[in-house]
Amino acid sequence: MILHDITREKMIERMKTEFVSLSAHQLRTPLSAIKWTLRMLLDGDLGEITKEQKEYIGKTYESNERMIDLINDLLNVTRIEEGRYLYEPTLTDFQAIVQFVINSFKEEIKKKRIKFEFKKTEEKLPEVKVDVEKMRLAVQNLLNNAISYTPSGGEVTISLKYDKDKIEVAVKDTGIGIPQDQQERVFSKFFRATNAIRKETKGTGLGLYIAKNIIEAHGGKIWFESKEDKGSTFYFTLPVEKRFEEFLKRL
Ligand code: ADP
Repeated sequence: MILHDITREKMIERMKTEFVSLSAHQLRTPLSAIKWTLRMLLDGDLGEITKEQKEYIGKTYESNERMIDLINDLLNVTRIEEGRYLYEPTLTDFQAIVQFVINSFKEEIKKKRIKFEFKKTEEKLPEVKVDVEKMRLAVQNLLNNAISYTPSGGEVTISLKYDKDKIEVAVKDTGIGIPQDQQERVFSKFFRATNAIRKETKGTGLGLYIAKNIIEAHGGKIWFESKEDKGSTFYFTLPVEKRFEEFLKRL
């Protein structure tokens, strides 16, 4: 038997996570200040600006937004790793969560001329016990990928299915797909596929890692099917607790 003392490795690992967490926190405040100043400039609150100035400030605003997204992703990752990503489940209408996320992408969908469809279930879904904020984030990460990695004019479909004791969600796109030889790394931290990098798409490689953690913390499963240049479908399930009242109704 060989025993290997990993105390030091564990300590270094913890210090690294703490360092990322601290730096991310420190960066958040100045980035917010920059955001609000740029917003005021763009809205003309600080005086009139020319069309050209507006264009440049607009681009700076977008870059700043991307930095804020990255910081938020990093904070979520450190919370997951330190076991501080706590869940506050409440009984909720799951379809409303999906609809909320879809609404936030309406402009993006229009801008990219994406043919978008939301296939709901015929019968009303039972309520599920989820952390609404985090479940929105998981759905948002999947839909964001489907839209980002699909060229203009492509198709994105979200479908819901309800089967006995679980809800199944599928986010399907006709985008760039994920190369076969890289598929097993898709849910790891900071992973970005070579074809996505080549196309200069924006991303941090943290969205799916976070989504997987959220889904699994809710007792669900997440997986995908993908073919390069053809498209991808990301699936996840959520268990539905049979409620006592429903049980009584059926008696
Ligand atoms: P990000 O999108 O910010 O890079 P994610 O963790 O959400 O990070 O995704 C990791 C990688 O998986 C992406 O960079 C991309 O290469 C690939 N990927 C995820 N979703 C899709 C999709 N729908 N179509 C094609 N590639 C995808």
